[in-house]
Amino acid sequence: MDFELNLSNAPQGAEKSDKNTIHDVVIIGSGPAGLSAALYTARAHLNPLVLTGDQLGGQVSITSDVENYPGFPEAVGGPELVDRMQKQAERFGAKIEFDIITEVDLSRRPFKLTGYDGTYYAKAVIISTGATARKLQIPGETEYTGHGVSYCGTCDGFFFQDQEVVVIGGGDSALEEAIFLTKFATKLTDVHRRDEFRAGRTLQARINKNKKISVIWDTVPLEVLGADNKVTGIKLKNVKTGEEWVKPTDGVFIFIGHTPNSAIFKGQLEIDDKGYLVTDKQLRTSVEGVWAAGEIADSVFRQVITSAGMGAAAGIAAERWLAEREEEDEALTIPDELEPVV
Ligand code: NAP
Repeated sequence: MDFELNLSNAPQGAEKSDKNTIHDVVIIGSGPAGLSAALYTARAHLNPLVLTGDQLGGQVSITSDVENYPGFPEAVGGPELVDRMQKQAERFGAKIEFDIITEVDLSRRPFKLTGYDGTYYAKAVIISTGATARKLQIPGETEYTGHGVSYCGTCDGFFFQDQEVVVIGGGDSALEEAIFLTKFATKLTDVHRRDEFRAGRTLQARINKNKKISVIWDTVPLEVLGADNKVTGIKLKNVKTGEEWVKPTDGVFIFIGHTPNSAIFKGQLEIDDKGYLVTDKQLRTSVEGVWAAGEIADSVFRQVITSAGMGAAAGIAAERWLAEREEEDEALTIPDELEPVV
């Protein structure tokens, strides 16, 4: 997996867990799903260990303001929401450690998880590794993320009140978000690389009817332009004629798909054709004792509140499952052939 280590996100002052113990629950990923699973399993006295992944808090930690999480009528900053969730889980005994899991063995219990910082054993595992919005990988995109470039209309649309924005993409997400963004933007231009949408017909019909939306076909973005830390335009190229030009805009919303962070589970858990972990209604994966919550298992809703809800549900399910086999689990040991981590 292509992870970038960001040590600035490491929880400060946390004591390292004992690598030679078998944890009741290890939670992989620390977004709203992971931290909610931690809260619920901690309150059930399971002393969960959360392994953060490369970014404590996940996608929400890079969202400036969250205005649709219940209980915060004045909105809450993404990093503050993460901090509050972390403190709440820790208050009940959750341990949050910075590590990125690179390999798992879910073929037998205790489950074995290997990260940069060591090996962890767990009776139950909750996976909340999330999904990553696909990037265009053009100049200016990273530089202006959070300053006019966004991957979430629901999160950032409100900041483009009475402004002009560009949407990139021709799938269901792009069209759905484009329609949503016209609640705020005065004018919206969708830029699509082909001459027909991938999105379903209903959404296409709604786009055609929306007077605020126009479409530029057969066109790809080349560069996001800006000044004073703010987007001012986007350089475009018509793929049929080769013509290049700059379109002035206040914002660039990119919806070209998400990549679920499921690579380390390939061959061990059932994964659908888009890379999402397959779960049943109780969020059980194809391996008993392993649950999945949040965007790793949800290609549809992808909201902080829905991910948090899934995390809570997975935590409750894990607690019930562990309670049923408490006695037999007392016999679980770290496999002999493996040297305990010193
Ligand atoms: P998607 O269906 O994969 O669409 C991605 C879009 O981005 C496509 O139009 C694609 O162009 C374009 N694209 C990809 N890479 C690009 C690049 N490098 N430069 C420019 N354009 C690029 O992703 P999605 O829209 O996020 O949808 C994901 C899944 O969720 C789909 O199954 C979708 O049906 C579902 N979904 C459903 C709903 C709904 O039913 N209401 C809402 C949202 C999502 P091409 O078309 O040329 O490939």
